[in-house]
Amino acid sequence: MAIRRIVTQGDDRLHKKCREVTEFNQRLHVLLDDMKETLEEAQGVGLAAPQVGVLRRAVVIVDDDDQMLELVNPEIIASSGEKAAPEGCLSVPGKWGLVARPFFARVRAQDRFGNWFETEGEDLMARCFCHEIEHLDGHLYVEHIDHFMTDDEVEAFYEEEEAREKRGK
Ligand code: ZN
Repeated sequence: MAIRRIVTQGDDRLHKKCREVTEFNQRLHVLLDDMKETLEEAQGVGLAAPQVGVLRRAVVIVDDDDQMLELVNPEIIASSGEKAAPEGCLSVPGKWGLVARPFFARVRAQDRFGNWFETEGEDLMARCFCHEIEHLDGHLYVEHIDHFMTDDEVEAFYEEEEAREKRGK
């Protein structure tokens, strides 16, 4: 396994539509293993293949149980609700923007051997599914925002969310 360099905003490869994975071979397995190691080292929650310069439809995500989930040729098959929250991206380091995403999303994808499966998630997971799958179509979250959040805005958001959760209990 090897840590790959994460390409950042401005790199052409982040703006291309990625091709479907059709061969579930050793080359794909090495890519997924490297992506997982790269994501872990960067301490992110999701990484798409174009972020390491590979224009293929593959994504790795850290799920709610801290397990790495591999999604090959993923697509959103159902979503509902909406939540706006600060969102960041390893290809746009150190920045945050407020993005509205579905609160719930269900995804269909293939594993590294080509077997289809479905998975779903709420809140951060749903946000992550949407964010990473957008990468595969050459889009970055910054297209959804009108400004980057200041540290104060990010802090205020989480304070408010915490207060909201306390009120809810
Ligand atoms: Zn990203």
